[in-house]
Amino acid sequence: MNFKYGKNILFFGLVILISFASSSCQRISNKNKNKNENKEVILASFTVLADIIKNVAKDEFIVRSITKPGVEVHGYQPTPSDLVKASTAFVFIDNGFGFELWAEKFVSNLKVLRITVAEDLDPIFISEDLYKGKPNPHAWISPKRGMIYVDTIVESLSELRPSKRGVFEENGRFYKERLSKMDKEFSLFINNLNKDRRYLVSCEGAFSYLTNDYGLEEVYLWPVNAESQITPKRMARTISLVKDKNVPTVFCESTVSNESQMVVVNETGANFGGNLFVDSLSDDSGPANSYIKMLEHNLELIKKGLF
Ligand SMILES: [Zn+2]
Repeated sequence: MNFKYGKNILFFGLVILISFASSSCQRISNKNKNKNENKEVILASFTVLADIIKNVAKDEFIVRSITKPGVEVHGYQPTPSDLVKASTAFVFIDNGFGFELWAEKFVSNLKVLRITVAEDLDPIFISEDLYKGKPNPHAWISPKRGMIYVDTIVESLSELRPSKRGVFEENGRFYKERLSKMDKEFSLFINNLNKDRRYLVSCEGAFSYLTNDYGLEEVYLWPVNAESQITPKRMARTISLVKDKNVPTVFCESTVSNESQMVVVNETGANFGGNLFVDSLSDDSGPANSYIKMLEHNLELIKKGLF
């Protein structure tokens, strides 16, 4: 994992000096201050990543997300208020693999450290259309890869604050146990699932890491949401596959319209299994307001739909 710096290296010297200064002030006047007042801010590019970071950082940092729950992230357009929000942060953590099409320009306007999680991940490449040959960005969708995200965040936060390495490692271990439990349960489900039912049909091709890691066949209406164009050829291909393979259930994602998938439902008689969460968590009233809940929600819908 590498840290990348924004434009002005001198600025970081200054930031380090200021943070040393502020941490010694903190020691002196800590008791009378609001608990969060002197905490440094980590900015994540999207809600899923922010939640993973929060679970590792706990009380050590304030963690915020640039994009809000429910928002489509690939083609997001940062607003002036996002820049204001970002100016209080000392680190920007993004997914990479081309997920945040806006990140490069956004970061060039900021003076922050940048950490890109994808540098620690083995990519699965997109096999068609505009994004052919580029890494599929949605690695977090598989609990197996989610555990690698946790390791990367533990290591990154430990490098940012070496005195708290033990705390971050402990938080990471606890969090990974929950992911590992989910991983084992889903593997067991797939192993017991009849081979001719192992198809995951979705709107976006966002499930490659999940289907690859657990032995499902991935079928989708478009490869990446940034494109989200359904061509007649692709529609026809999906319909004939669902019919030929007798796929019982098809799905869509929470951040796009499921209109196109309903055409597949009407043409094939397959069930619509609901919206899976990928690029964005739900708000607090929704079923996927944390990364763990998002995976649980998705895996439950898939189990129900394919069983
Ligand atoms: Zn996506």
